[in-house]
Amino acid sequence: MSYISADVVVIGAGIVGLSSAYYIKKNHPEKNVLVVDEAHTFGQGNTGKSAAGFRDLFTSDINFKLSNSSIKFYSDTQKNGIDLGMEFVGYLFLLDNENSNIKYLMDLAKKTQVRELKVSDLEKYEFLQTKLPSEVKSMLNLSDIDLAFIGENCGIIEPELVAEHYYNLAVNEGVQFKFDSKVKPLKLDAKDKLDFPGEPFIWQEYILRSIETETDHIRFDDLVLASDVWTTELLDPTGIDSHVRPKKRQIFQLSGGPVDKILSSWKENRENIFPFTILPAHGVYIRPAPRYHSLWIGCADDYNRDFSLVDDPQAEDDFYSYNIAQVLGSYLPSIGDAKITGKWAGYYSYNTIDMTPYIFRELNIIVATGTSGSGIMKADSIGRVVEALFSNKDETELYNGAVIKTSSLGLRNRSVQHENLVL
Ligand SMILES: Cc1cc2nc3c(=O)[nH]c(=O)nc-3n(C[C@H](O)[C@H](O)[C@H](O)COP(=O)(O)OP(=O)(O)OC[C@H]3O[C@@H](n4cnc5c(N)ncnc54)[C@H](O)[C@@H]3O)c2cc1C
Repeated sequence: MSYISADVVVIGAGIVGLSSAYYIKKNHPEKNVLVVDEAHTFGQGNTGKSAAGFRDLFTSDINFKLSNSSIKFYSDTQKNGIDLGMEFVGYLFLLDNENSNIKYLMDLAKKTQVRELKVSDLEKYEFLQTKLPSEVKSMLNLSDIDLAFIGENCGIIEPELVAEHYYNLAVNEGVQFKFDSKVKPLKLDAKDKLDFPGEPFIWQEYILRSIETETDHIRFDDLVLASDVWTTELLDPTGIDSHVRPKKRQIFQLSGGPVDKILSSWKENRENIFPFTILPAHGVYIRPAPRYHSLWIGCADDYNRDFSLVDDPQAEDDFYSYNIAQVLGSYLPSIGDAKITGKWAGYYSYNTIDMTPYIFRELNIIVATGTSGSGIMKADSIGRVVEALFSNKDETELYNGAVIKTSSLGLRNRSVQHENLVL
């Protein structure tokens, strides 16, 4: 066992841990900050599994602020010459007249860039079927496309490039990294130890003094838990609730002739790339991946998708063939039968109550989790909130100048509305 110490330890070198470590070190250069991850390098957890779309289309004010500011930070970074693979291809919501998202998108049009497209604007794309045969509609519970909205401050980004950027920023500030180090579940200690068996007793003050891996005993003053869906197993022994549940999410990559045609024939955005598209029903979405000449297909299925968590989740061919392909093929017949050229699976860490991140402090532990499927697009702001909490600042100033109450994402004084646009 080797004995290491740092002022601040961050568990998790995903996008949230990287951004948090960077902002803590940047604002407290005198502190030793150490990031520990079980993977061999950064960004190997759900960050690397992400569809990595970005949007500021959120119904809750706080989610709007978190994403809108992070998008601005990423976009300015890219304008300054660092490629993050960011393309403003837009988020296209294909909708029927009854769709509840219409109201949300019309409200959002008052505060960000959202444009309505008529069905006639879509009918010129022959790969897109807006009117479905009635037997298809009744069998698959689908509807015609009656209208569409496109969010224009939205698009795609490369998560590994964003992670690499924060890693470089953090290393330049002097943050240290320890990879290939799986942290064992946390054990609380007594602040003033008496060295009696059975400590800590209820009448002692609790603290988390250290963590352990197979080879290291790491001592610290403060711990940041940025371990996403794995936060629960780390925290459970302490009696502190993580408040998140894992949900498996899968991506199926399609490539080939019809895919190329769809990718390149879109004319409604300045990039001339087919947008990130949400089909009218059943949570199926299409993420353009022009760098890979592919479309990535995902689905935010809910019922019957349990909350289990396994070490190496696999994408399920049958889930694609018997669930997604029918819906996809109804609206885009040319790719309904396209070959899958890649697939992977990861997890959303769902805050099942309000679908908004949890960033709270308990003892000397700061927990940042519950990104609910939108952690890449909010990570810059999340890192700033973690730093504000670390520094006991009542308010967090985000990159774009927006200000939020630091405690609003916490537990005791939580002040967020339920998020309705979770994809
Ligand atoms: C299929 C899919 C599609 C998605 N699509 C989008 C999208 O379009 N846009 C978007 O913004 N977000 C999307 N997300 C969500 C996004 O990927 C997450 O919100 C984000 O990656 C969370 O970052 P994180 O740093 O909290 O977690 P992670 O990247 O998972 O990082 C957590 C880290 O903690 C480490 N760790 C865990 N336990 C331990 C331990 N005991 N010891 C040491 N290290 C440990 C892990 O190795 C990991 O590196 C998607 C996710 C998935 C799975």
